[in-house]
Amino acid sequence: MSNLILRNVRPYGEAATDLLIRDGVIAETGTIADQPGIAVEDGQGAILWPGLIDAHTHLDKTTWGMGWHENNRAAVLRERIDYEREMRLELGMDPHRQSMRHAIGLAAHGATHIRSHVDIDTTHGLRLVEGVQQTREKLRGIIDIEIVAFPQSGLMVMPGTLELLDEALANGCEVLGGIDPCGIDRDPKGQLDALFALAGKHGVPIDIHLHEAGELGAFTMEMIFERVRATGMQGKFVISHAFALGMNDELRVARLVEEIAELDIGIATTGAPSATVPSARRLKAAGVRLGAGCDGIRDTWGPWGLPDMMDRARIIGMKNGVRSDHELRHMLEIVSQGGADLMRLDGYGIAPGCKADFTLLRGQTVGHAVVQPALPPLVVKAGKIIAREGHCIVDMP
Ligand SMILES: [Zn+2]
Repeated sequence: MSNLILRNVRPYGEAATDLLIRDGVIAETGTIADQPGIAVEDGQGAILWPGLIDAHTHLDKTTWGMGWHENNRAAVLRERIDYEREMRLELGMDPHRQSMRHAIGLAAHGATHIRSHVDIDTTHGLRLVEGVQQTREKLRGIIDIEIVAFPQSGLMVMPGTLELLDEALANGCEVLGGIDPCGIDRDPKGQLDALFALAGKHGVPIDIHLHEAGELGAFTMEMIFERVRATGMQGKFVISHAFALGMNDELRVARLVEEIAELDIGIATTGAPSATVPSARRLKAAGVRLGAGCDGIRDTWGPWGLPDMMDRARIIGMKNGVRSDHELRHMLEIVSQGGADLMRLDGYGIAPGCKADFTLLRGQTVGHAVVQPALPPLVVKAGKIIAREGHCIVDMP
């Protein structure tokens, strides 16, 4: 655990101050005198912000660093899933190496925590989870990684997957994933009952991918609400994507959001430009926990994405029609505090007593920092400087 004095930084864009870090924790702010044996760093007036959080990504999927993956297929969701499962073998994708590349990229751009869904299926078994677990160990002290056991290829349509999820949760995955109970499994009762039973057995939260749009997604959400209520999973369920909340039926969406707030269900968004997404404004007004993720970068699904949560804040901002500074700030909160709220992180923030996990940002104001692409001058994890100007102290493999 590290000690550090950081001078001349602006917490949340406010007046400049110094920071004393002791044993990896923010001990004091204000004017800090030099102290023997403690290194001093000049923040040069940068904005001090809690570490960014990628609360929804897929560390095992990226082809980053493997050369351009030429992809000329026009595929719907089911075909993209099957294509990926096969391409992993054909491309010889190493889940440890690829997840290192993705995670190091995020850390270099100011992230201190990741929630990664990792594929589990009967072709690859737990091999992909094991690769990401290796990365988690290697990057301890650089970036924290939480793993979601994720049945990407479906649960009910792929017998044997449930047993693998069970094994993954017994072996260190912290969260149980799921996917489109209607659209992929065509058996919402089957998948949801199996997920809730397994989560109950291991005492873990659930974070489900729900791409189902419109009325179909609303129907699945209602099945989720019934089960959250019946099993006492209030506060322990996240719906990722939740595209149904972007549908046009105002009254229908209002009722769904009301119930989401009441059951303290969290929402993870990516601001997907090609989909109907939940309104960040509306969820904030309802007091719903809202985090965000880059949802995997440059993979066999598509060519887009960067390992950079500031880039994601901009995408979500554009998708949500954000113009005011006040809402630009909200975009930055979604990719930081919002993720901490979804992951229930302890000691998150930049007040005295919080863990010293933070990034510096360039900008005259917070809104300016969100809009203007720039590398973070400094990223600190547990009081240790782990990146400068977009370069992490750990090299990309
Ligand atoms: Zn995803």
